[in-house]
Amino acid sequence: MTTAASNLAEAGHRFARKGRELPVRVIELSDRGDGGGHILVFGDLIDDCLVRVHSRCLYGESLGSDDCDCGPELDKALDMIVEEKAGVLVYLEQEGRGAGLINKARGYAESERAGTDTFASYEQLGLDADARSYGNAADALAGLGITKVRLLTNNPAKAEALREAGLEVSPIPLVTKLLSERAAQYLEAKRRFRGHWIPTDDAPWSVVEVS
Ligand SMILES: [Zn+2]
Repeated sequence: MTTAASNLAEAGHRFARKGRELPVRVIELSDRGDGGGHILVFGDLIDDCLVRVHSRCLYGESLGSDDCDCGPELDKALDMIVEEKAGVLVYLEQEGRGAGLINKARGYAESERAGTDTFASYEQLGLDADARSYGNAADALAGLGITKVRLLTNNPAKAEALREAGLEVSPIPLVTKLLSERAAQYLEAKRRFRGHWIPTDDAPWSVVEVS
């Protein structure tokens, strides 16, 4: 398969990770006012491949923060893609749930001050609790020519966005080891307020319907 969006910058090379090597094709995702990002196609692009749609988190991915599950989620998704020697990572420049790093830091500070989760803190600061959007990623994935994906996510909003773009989606929840009490609280807030699937048998993370 080839990419339909031929006007976008693209480059391919070999990618090595944890002792394994596979080809990767990097495609620029244009900024629609949402920060844009990149699509990384690992191995051959095949229908029903593993797909991770991931928003940037400097703390979790690069600084090894224990305060959220972003780093372990990305790590696990890449483990699975490399294991299959095929899959797609859509990496979105939506730091701090789309609010940016400074606002994310302000949100943490507000959480520490008020004892609230970061969604409530964002709202207290006058910010959208979650300003991320996945339409750009969904359209780009559909533009690659695939018709169905196995989506590595706990976030129903991502699955919904891809379905709206015409893709058939089979969600595969990501189970990660929680690194701290704050990460556990963040996961719980995502489950309670954003309807995330938290796929573990361990109490208190049982999945419940969120209205
Ligand atoms: Zn994070």
